[in-house]
Amino acid sequence: MYSIGEARKRLPKEYIEYLYAAFPAKAADGALQGAARPLPSSLRVNSLRSDIHPVMDTLRSSGLKFQRLPWFPQALLFDAPVLKKLQILPEYSDGRIYLQSLSSMVPPLLLPLHAGQAVLDLCAAPGSKTTQMAAMMRNQGSILAVEVDTLRMERLQYNVKRQGVIIVETQAVDGTKVGRMSADYFDAVLVDAPCSGEGRFRLDDPKTYRSWNVRMVKKLARLQKRLLHSGLDALKPGGHLVYSTCTINTNENEAVVAAILQARSDVEILPARLPGLKVTAGLTQTQEERWPSALKQTMRIWPTPVMEGFYCCLLRKRS
Ligand code: SAM
Repeated sequence: MYSIGEARKRLPKEYIEYLYAAFPAKAADGALQGAARPLPSSLRVNSLRSDIHPVMDTLRSSGLKFQRLPWFPQALLFDAPVLKKLQILPEYSDGRIYLQSLSSMVPPLLLPLHAGQAVLDLCAAPGSKTTQMAAMMRNQGSILAVEVDTLRMERLQYNVKRQGVIIVETQAVDGTKVGRMSADYFDAVLVDAPCSGEGRFRLDDPKTYRSWNVRMVKKLARLQKRLLHSGLDALKPGGHLVYSTCTINTNENEAVVAAILQARSDVEILPARLPGLKVTAGLTQTQEERWPSALKQTMRIWPTPVMEGFYCCLLRKRS
């Protein structure tokens, strides 16, 4: 556990400047506090392999303390980081449980997924959300999992197999090209975009933050817009798309969505909320910029002691 002062010293200076310029001081302090301590472990029970009750029995008999969450019946949150204790369980090795941060479970839950749909996961590795969506679809229908990085793709294929998912086809291609190749095809699309990862900064893990810089954020924002356009092109009229990032940076979140809304008349924002999950509304302005009021319907998860920072936007392509 570190102090805010320590966080200010360790995190990139430009990041601290951005944080306090973009957000009120209390919120910025909160983000630093979020980075100052390790998150407690959390997991998703893979409903394709197991019901949650036998898993809870095993965890209790291993002496682990956890709680359920009102917004996702398959999620368990532990009282501390207990990764090593979880990784030795047979439930871990045979894919009955999947270790996943709570915030990462949110984007698929915003999509109205059903068995039998055709779904596109445009930035898919290592497959946390691909496998979650497959479980939500009861392993019926199809998911095209696209990932540009072939090494990360191997990890996705391993996770898909371990969790007993049979509806995923993988493609190691650039997601920005997919929209043109499969226009108006998918019922639902997830664009869980590559991002600067500010929501996952951890002071005890410098690799989470040492490569952060303003130029990188700008470059990522350009890529995010291209990926989001591609995802929307691939979406059927009437279909739903979730855009998500694990950063709190407005340049990669609200500004990306606002640019898309300005460029296309075929999409509308729908409220991104989950019953039982406390979140904050997307921003409609910072000191430097203003965005349409519809952006309030997007979701910000501000870093807390149990959740990493995340951003989600639910879009619908007009019929
Ligand atoms: N959705 C994943 C999950 O829940 O396990 C995490 C995705 S991670 C935030 C973003 C992924 O996008 C990375 O694996 C990265 O390699 C991939 N990526 C980056 N650029 C891409 C592109 N142009 N096309 C497809 N994937 C891309």
